[in-house]
Order: sequence, then C-alpha cells, then structure tokens
Amino acid sequence: MKILDQIYVNGNFVKSTGAERFNTINPATNEKLAEVHLANSNDLDNAVAAAKKAFQTFSKSTREERIDILKNISDVLSRRKKDFIETMVTEYGGTLQFSEASFSNALSTFSSTIEILENFDFERSIGVSKLKLQPVGVVGIITPWNASNSFICSKMATAIAAGCTAVVKPSEMSALQSQVIMEVFHDAGLPPGVFNLVNGFGNTVGTALTSHKDISKISFTGSTVTGKSIARIAVDTMKRVTLELGGKSPNIILADADLATTIPMAVYGAYMNSGQACIAPTRLLVPADKLEQVNHIAKTTAEGIKIGNPLERDTIVGPMVSVKQFERVQNYIRLGIEEGATLLTGGTGKPQGLDSGNFVKATVFTNVSNSMRIAQEEIFGPVLCIIPYKDEDEAIQLANDTAYGLAAYVSAADDKAAERVAAQIDAGRVCINGFSHDPLAPFGGFKQSGIGREYGVYGLEEYLEVKAILN
Ligand code: NAD
Repeated sequence: MKILDQIYVNGNFVKSTGAERFNTINPATNEKLAEVHLANSNDLDNAVAAAKKAFQTFSKSTREERIDILKNISDVLSRRKKDFIETMVTEYGGTLQFSEASFSNALSTFSSTIEILENFDFERSIGVSKLKLQPVGVVGIITPWNASNSFICSKMATAIAAGCTAVVKPSEMSALQSQVIMEVFHDAGLPPGVFNLVNGFGNTVGTALTSHKDISKISFTGSTVTGKSIARIAVDTMKRVTLELGGKSPNIILADADLATTIPMAVYGAYMNSGQACIAPTRLLVPADKLEQVNHIAKTTAEGIKIGNPLERDTIVGPMVSVKQFERVQNYIRLGIEEGATLLTGGTGKPQGLDSGNFVKATVFTNVSNSMRIAQEEIFGPVLCIIPYKDEDEAIQLANDTAYGLAAYVSAADDKAAERVAAQIDAGRVCINGFSHDPLAPFGGFKQSGIGREYGVYGLEEYLEVKAILN
C-alpha cells in the first residue's frame, strides 16, 4: 500500500513528523489507495520559517525573474498533464471531462498571470505622491478537495507575480494530487522557500497557519463556515484575507429564451463537477407559465445523463468525494421531499448497478419555493431546484434572495434584456447565455460567498500592499 509522507519545505521533500494518519479512499470503489502521514505544527513552523527567509530576497525579484519562474512552472505542468488528471479522477472522483477542463484552467492561469505581470504598474502616482505596490509578505494558501491543484496553481501564480512566498495547505483528502503538484514546483526550479507545502487537518495545521504571526495573508478557498472561522482567527494578527466560499447560484431563464437549448444546458451546468462546484447553477428560475415544458425537458435531460466511472469519457456525474458527502446529499434529497418540493427525477439511494462507490442519482426538484432549505443551502451534489417566477422583477428578487453571491447565469434571446437583468444580480460573476470562463476577469463573491477577488489585475492587487510616498 502506498504511503504518502512527504511535504515540501525550503526546496526539499522532507518527511512529515506528525502522528496523525489519513486514509485516501477511491470514491468510485471505496477502496483504500494510500495512507497519508499528516504534518504537525512543527512541520508548519519550518515551512513558514523557510518562506519568511525566502521572502527577503524574492520580494525584491524583478518582473522578468518572476515571469521566467511562471514559464518554467507552466512548462513542467504541461508535461505532467496525465498525472494531474489521473490523480484527480482516482483520488476525488472528478470526471475525466471535468478533470481535463481543470487542467486547462490550471495551465491558463500561468499564461494569463504572465500577461498581467508584463503590463502591471508596481509604481504609480496620485496627487503629489508616489505609490509603491509591494508584496504583502508570506501567504498561507488553503485549498479544498474539489479541483485542489487548480486552485494551488492559480493562487501560487498570483503570489509569485506579486513577489510573495507561500505555504500551501491543501485538503487532507488531496494527498495524491498534492504529491504531483509538489513535484511540478520542485522540477520548475524555484528559489528554495518560495513554495512550501504542508498537508494536515484544517483544525490543526490549518488553524496554526491562520494564526501564525509570520503569515501576512491567507488566501482560502472552501466552505463559508470554515471561511468565517479563518476570518475570525486571522483578525488577531490583522492578516489580509481572500476568501472564496460557497454558492447557491441562480440561473435565470428569461421568457424569450429557447428552452430546447437552455434547459439541457442548465441541467448539465448544475451537475458540473458532479454537482460539487461552488459556481454550479443549482437554482433554475423559469417563467411560471413555461414550468410544464421546462419540467419535461429537465427530466428527460437528467435521465439521459451518464452517472458512473469517472474515467469514462462520457460520464457526467461521478461519485461524491466521500461517504460523508454522499450522506449529506442524501439528507438534502430527503429534506426536499419533506419540505414539499416535487421530485421530478432521481431521489435517495444509489443508481442501479453503482453500489460500491459514493454515487448519487441525478436529481431534479421542481415547484421549489425559494425559502425552502434545499433552495437556500449549498448541497454540493447533483441536485437541481426548479423555481417558477411570474415576471422579470420577481426573477431578480428571487435570484438575490440568498445568503450567497458567487455566480449567476442569465439566458435570453435578447442580449439587452439579459444585460439588464445581469446588472441587477448581486454576484461576483454573471454569465450570459452559457458558462464561459475568463482568466483575466476578477472572480469572487458578494455577501457570504466571500471577501476579495482572484484572477486578473484585481486578483494580483490582493497580494500587494499600497505605500504612498510623499515628498
Ligand atoms: P472546507 O471548508 O471543509 O475545507 C477547505 C480547506 O480548509 C481544507 O484544506 C481544510 O482542511 C481546511 N480547513 C478546514 N477547517 C479549517 C480551519 N478551522 N482553519 C483552517 N483551515 C481549515 O471545504 P471543502 O469541503 O474542502 O470544499 C467544499 C467547499 O468549498 C464548498 O463550500 C464550496 O462551495 C467551496 N468552494 C468555493 C470555491 C470558490 O472559488 N468560491 C471553489 C471551490 C470550492
């Protein structure tokens, strides 16, 4: 059996010295893949010390040096495409389709960051003052299990562009993927201490990182509950925080939209990453007078979706990452039925013939009221809620009636109408007629979906402190 006991400190692979162990389980079969030896707070202290030392020189590196480093990482990463994707599929059950897209996103983050860095003004002027944008310090990067390496790549690319050094703590459920990404950064030949990676549980190593006096900023992607806890602890040392948290994204289908194309797309969207995506459009808002038509198309689409082995190219919904996550989704499906929503298709239990993995039926509820818990809480599984609205104003009101504000989607034949509605939605990213990605556009949440932005110029500025020099 595989033992994963390496962490990465000061340019070297070293053994973690913690006593805690974690079993890596293949979620498609529930077979044990590896035993992870988790790090402890001493390991973390060593990593932070290395990053702090490296910051003294790396913070003064030139734009060209940083661009070279980003290019090197990108080159090595492109050679490790197969491992990146395979570990994602086996360790976390990401479908091949999603894992390939995740790899492309990870790679594109380096080219887009280079593009920004080439033209970014670290020195500006305002009034009679000169402004200097300097790296914030050592950054603590904490990532979730869904698309772990992709988040590490985007956060590290930005940190490097800013001149920051970092200590990464991925999810304890991502050790196989972390091994690949450590090797990528090692082979890219970074100056020692710029990138460090320490695994561990959130309530031990994660908390130690968040409270560490030598960490200046936390860049976190994960649940809203954990984000709040991080923000509370981080304030004691006045750390800067970027928090990318949960979502319950609305998808508004306007009256003139073509249902034959938009509804299948809406169902596929809700099931992206097997429904385990923060940006998944899980609340489908449709004109009440078209509800029957929508129900018919949504049911047919969901029932035609392939659930199963994530390695098969046509699989859309793979297993839930863990038994715990499977149970959580089952509980929400039961809750939806109890709350009085109409179960259009799917439901509790495993799909036929998929008994050994954490597979959930592709589920659609209709006649959902936006006040129900299934419409308000993040389920993180393949469960779509169809919510009827009577007019455009009500659609906007329902879309915004949520604690979250990460993403939103609007479909319409009339672009102007779609833009009018998009302008009134409280979300960090609103996509019109599709699910496009733009690595140069800022990404982040309104309300309880987070604080701050990632990607693009806005993302880079979050890793910099602004100093005004008055002469
Ligand atoms: P999680 O919050 O449970 O864990 C995320 C990370 O935080 C893990 O590395 C975990 O070990 C660590 N952690 C846990 N408790 C901690 C603590 N007290 N202090 C410091 N670190 C701690 O989230 P998850 O279950 O791994 O991921 C799913 C969640 O992530 C969903 O809510 C999803 O919406 C969110 N997410 C958000 C985005 C985004 O960009 N906004 C992207 C992906 C996922």
